Amino acid sequence: MKTCDLHTHTTASDGSDTPRALIEKAAEAGLSAVAVTDHDTTSGLEEARQAAKATDVEFIPGVELSVNFHKGNMHMLGYFMDENDPGFKAVLDRVQRARAERNPKILALLESIGKPISMEELEELAQGGQIGRPHIARAMVEKGYVKSVSQAFDKYLKRGAKAYAPKSILSPKEAIEVIRGARGVPVLAHPFSLLTTSQEELEAIVSELKDSGLMGLECYYSEHDDAFTSMCLGLAKKYELVVTGGSDYHGKAKPHIKLGRGKGNLTIPYTCVESLEAARANV
Ligand code: AMP
Ligand code: ZN
Ligand code: FE
Ligand code: FE
Repeated sequence: MKTCDLHTHTTASDGSDTPRALIEKAAEAGLSAVAVTDHDTTSGLEEARQAAKATDVEFIPGVELSVNFHKGNMHMLGYFMDENDPGFKAVLDRVQRARAERNPKILALLESIGKPISMEELEELAQGGQIGRPHIARAMVEKGYVKSVSQAFDKYLKRGAKAYAPKSILSPKEAIEVIRGARGVPVLAHPFSLLTTSQEELEAIVSELKDSGLMGLECYYSEHDDAFTSMCLGLAKKYELVVTGGSDYHGKAKPHIKLGRGKGNLTIPYTCVESLEAARANV
């Protein structure tokens, strides 16, 4: 069976593989298609696109936008955008400025509780990519402030924790509109991260997003169990949303997640790519 991975991160955001290395790993893993979906940036796409030409891997350009939501974490994936669309570029610039303003706030909060980290240390870890909380978490581990990245998030970096500063400036509707404005296909990422506690609660969110122009639902995902995957597949069917899937591979930044395989039991059928491509015509 042909398989794919439609959710991956590179050094353009908080993944540890360069876009080229990621494409090479996708080829080695025998994936038929891979999408690069870095957080709030398209800066890794061109390198991945060029690298894919030397392989049999079909490259799909993507992005993952963080959006404001009252519950859990909501991320919106976008596929096939025109990367040069002025409206899309302007929104990415705005989001990146918001990120750049946020990092010093987090560092100031950490300093105020006796856990200093310098911007230089973060830049070193980010290797020229966009700096995010995972880099700060890794710096905290290296400094011995915490034992692990997840402890850094739990004690200091997650929403409501001691050194948390907000980042998202887009509403879900704005994210959907800017993706579609650039002729891309908007897909709700990893619904489990919304932390809903019933099917009805998730359905209400999906229904509202559909009214805003949502076109797909990431049903296959590393952290979804079979029951949750089935529930997502049912919602995708009911709301006529494209079924997609991805591992959310980050390389060494999330060592337990393998490209195309998630925690080991994830398989994403290539039919997801075909459906996405079909949806593209309806943007
Ligand atoms: P940022 O974009 O800077 O807000 O950071 C978001 C990134 O942090 C995403 O890649 C998440 O996978 C990661 N992340 C969020 N919460 C946690 C957590 N509790 N443990 C480890 N990584 C996390
Ligand atoms: Zn990430
Ligand atoms: Fe995400
Ligand atoms: Fe992601």
